Amino acid sequence: MAMTAYDVEGEVDYEKVVKKFGASLIDDSLAKKLDHPLVPELFFAHRDLDKILANPKGFAVISGRGPSMNMHIGHLLIFKFVKHLQDKFNAFVFLPFSDDEKLLARGLTIEHVLQMSYENLLDMLALGFDPKKTEVMIDLATLKQEVYNLSIEAASHMTMSTVKAAFGFSDDVNIGIHFYPGMQAAHILYPTKKLGVPTIVPIGIDQDVFVKLTRDVAPKMGLAKPGDIMSKFLPGLTGGKMSSSKPETAIFTTDTPDAIKKKIANAFTGGLPTAKEQREKGGNPDVCVVYKYLRIFFGIDVRKQCRSGTYLCGDCKGILTKEMQKMLKDHQSERVKVEKNLEKFSPELGDLRNKFKK
Ligand code: SF4
Repeated sequence: MAMTAYDVEGEVDYEKVVKKFGASLIDDSLAKKLDHPLVPELFFAHRDLDKILANPKGFAVISGRGPSMNMHIGHLLIFKFVKHLQDKFNAFVFLPFSDDEKLLARGLTIEHVLQMSYENLLDMLALGFDPKKTEVMIDLATLKQEVYNLSIEAASHMTMSTVKAAFGFSDDVNIGIHFYPGMQAAHILYPTKKLGVPTIVPIGIDQDVFVKLTRDVAPKMGLAKPGDIMSKFLPGLTGGKMSSSKPETAIFTTDTPDAIKKKIANAFTGGLPTAKEQREKGGNPDVCVVYKYLRIFFGIDVRKQCRSGTYLCGDCKGILTKEMQKMLKDHQSERVKVEKNLEKFSPELGDLRNKFKK
């Protein structure tokens, strides 16, 4: 069976999972080097990060996107972290789009996944990646020969039994899905092949298996093993997992101010049944999604006000709504700006704009 991060129904025992995966927790010294407010609170575990950060020739960062739907703020957070690594370490960033995998695994049409690749691309580049140190590749539109060749080489070192054991695929899925780990490995290893430096993959903990498999094949291809930085799951607005297919659980980058307000109004909190009770006893920030979002997205900590009953949930929701509306208004305006300048990244992206601009 595929490795899963869920060891306990509805909750994740992260330390246990890291141990089971054979990865390491980010310690104080690594956290200091990464110098990011969400390390280690959100980005908490790694493989070989210490070795890769110490590489005298530097390293590259790769972070892909499977574009089946619009991006939500959880995705945005990962790419903001990637941008931080580019700025902090002058790292080359590779942003591949696995739209081909979405077609194979979800049965979506080429037109749909390409349109989504384009929309997601605008969200990612709106974060301000440096065009001189960033390469974008959309598998179904701008796949490079070198990457295809790498995928074939990687696939030649993977057996069906390894892939099945790693991902839990059964015989009745299409043959493209069985091949796809070869393409994922090619995405991860492309910067190493191109620049001769190892890669770091910032990734949700449930995706670590791709990196693990690539680490097994890289030495057989004469390439350095990639490392990763794993993130915890961000809770959905309604308290469970954030999911693109359940719009009420996530705020999307394209949501209107009204939609943001409505979603936050229905968010799960640690409040008490009546305002009177909450003023007397205080709320519980440890189970509260609004509390978590304020901290993670905006660095605002209302623990004291919550515990003392000074703030009621409506106050926190009001602050979060205002901050989120502003953040996404700014993001949407950067999206418009970057769309006009896609050629700075590559002429192919300019061609895509002419085809997919709405
Ligand atoms: Fe959450 Fe704020 Fe309510 Fe406390 S007062 S439970 S932090 S929303």
